Amino acid sequence: MSDAPETIFSKIIRKEIPTEIVYEDDLALAFKDIAPQAPVHILVIPKQPIAHLSEAESKDHALMGHLLLTVKRVAEQAGLNSQGYRVVINTGSDGGQTVPHLHLHILGGRQMAWPPG
Ligand code: 5GP
Repeated sequence: MSDAPETIFSKIIRKEIPTEIVYEDDLALAFKDIAPQAPVHILVIPKQPIAHLSEAESKDHALMGHLLLTVKRVAEQAGLNSQGYRVVINTGSDGGQTVPHLHLHILGGRQMAWPPG
């Protein structure tokens, strides 16, 4: 795994900028997106700096599983279980990733369309 560069998410992990954190443990942090694209828009990130999903390695297996289970936990906590929600990982420039620190978007509270733009 290559280290991610310092990003705005590094500052959020270090609590250097005001952020609505909704869940935290040793490995992961979940917080409200600053520009929500749905009534509920939460980002789940690893504290360990992995820039892109494409840079995750087999040794990150447990962390990757933990991130998905954190998504499940946070979505449940946000009351999204009954109606459902969408989980998105934008990766690289074609994927529309703007912050080079792996993050999983949880989007919910409205009907999602398919295909995404
Ligand atoms: P990406 O486009 O890389 O998949 O998603 C990056 C997300 O991070 C965007 O949805 C953007 O609104 C969010 N974001 C960028 N800067 C900040 C910030 O300073 N605070 C919070 N809470 N979200 C941010």
